[in-house]
Amino acid sequence: MHARWLVFLQRFSFTLKHKPGTENRVADALSRRNMLLTRMQAELVGLEHVKELYAEDDDFAAIWAKCAQSSQWEEYSLRHGFLFKHNLLCIPVFSWRQHLIRETHCGGLAAHLGQDNTLRQLQSRFFWPRLRRDTLRFVESCPICQAYKGGAQNSGLYMPLSVPNSIWEDVSMDFMLGLSRTRRGNDSILVVVDRFSKMSHFLSCKKTANAMNVATLFFNEIVRLHGLPKSITSDRDVKFISHFWRELWKRLGTDLRFSSAYHPQSDGQTEVVNRTLGNMLRCLVQEQPKQWEEMLSRAEFAYNAMPNRSTGKAPFDIVYTKAPNTVIDLSIVPKCHSAAASSFTEDYNKMLAEIRQQIIQSNSRYKEAADVHRREHVFKVGDLVMVRLRRERFPPGSYSKLARRKLGPVPIVAKINDNAYSIGLPADCNTSSTFNVADITHYKPADGAIISISSSESSSSDAGED
Ligand SMILES: [Zn+2]
Repeated sequence: MHARWLVFLQRFSFTLKHKPGTENRVADALSRRNMLLTRMQAELVGLEHVKELYAEDDDFAAIWAKCAQSSQWEEYSLRHGFLFKHNLLCIPVFSWRQHLIRETHCGGLAAHLGQDNTLRQLQSRFFWPRLRRDTLRFVESCPICQAYKGGAQNSGLYMPLSVPNSIWEDVSMDFMLGLSRTRRGNDSILVVVDRFSKMSHFLSCKKTANAMNVATLFFNEIVRLHGLPKSITSDRDVKFISHFWRELWKRLGTDLRFSSAYHPQSDGQTEVVNRTLGNMLRCLVQEQPKQWEEMLSRAEFAYNAMPNRSTGKAPFDIVYTKAPNTVIDLSIVPKCHSAAASSFTEDYNKMLAEIRQQIIQSNSRYKEAADVHRREHVFKVGDLVMVRLRRERFPPGSYSKLARRKLGPVPIVAKINDNAYSIGLPADCNTSSTFNVADITHYKPADGAIISISSSESSSSDAGED
């Protein structure tokens, strides 16, 4: 029995409706109107057999019997011969349960998302008792997740930015560097995140990409789909970002003049995405690290289809109003509306407003949690500090892994805002003078030592302490 279902499940039947084109004399595609249509339709083989299982099923037989009398009993109903709990298709006790979990967690459009996300995707479509237990058990024991996922969670500062008002107006942009070089010569990923919907795009690129290359990529892949953002936040050096911004605007060919203000900030948005992306890619590529580029679209789809922690919705739901079909959606009885489709009758603007509230609430929750662990970082003009030199501050190739990570003592020159200060850097230090508070620490001189402001610790010379 199980073997039969196994064979059934992975197969799709295609209905080909093909008219032989005797009248199709002209090869020109444009002149073929109304002559030849081919339609392919995917239907899950075996779905009809689910109906036959309810009557004898350990979990649903009693409910089935009650519904059989009046087609409805409490929150259960019969539609087209299938049993539903609210809008969730009830799955009897048989191998489909495991197959649905597997498909959701590691199928062709999935990327080994965690327990909660896998569970939420299933719970929005199907019902069976112990669905939660079955799913958690499956994901927990997934050998790939266990081997390829990093354990560290939620590190670093959290400093919320102002909350955007709508989709694709404010974006974060960051890079994931240091991947194996692929056949196309790419070794990095440009990660672009819409700060409202959390929709993300993962674009492969080269570590050596300059601001002009990145502007071209951004224009072709982001502006093409979502238009022009009002703001871009990035952890990259201000020189790089302002150059990028100018290059992007050049491509718009506009005579209108815009001023661009620079607000150094970080909200940890892309870092969070990067961590998830790293885990997904490790699970997808496993022992072939050079394959990451081929897996990128799949990872992006999986990421945008999973509900986000701060909005409670999948990015696709917010941007498209309806999530694209996955393989398990094709297994939903086609004649019945899925829960996902029926819940989108609400007014779009109302939804956006609600999501905005969600983000605000979730920001304050994160902030509270983060602030518990965060030391107060307040500096006065003239304070002597040590500043952390991140890799991103240096041109490719000039940063050594063994170089000193901190520079100082150097004085605070000005406070830009709570998150950023201007630092008096030595003249030969070829990097922006603006630092995030995360990278500034009070300098603690040894007792009685005379403080001299030195510029000897350059970025790439002597071996460092960490
Ligand atoms: Zn897994």
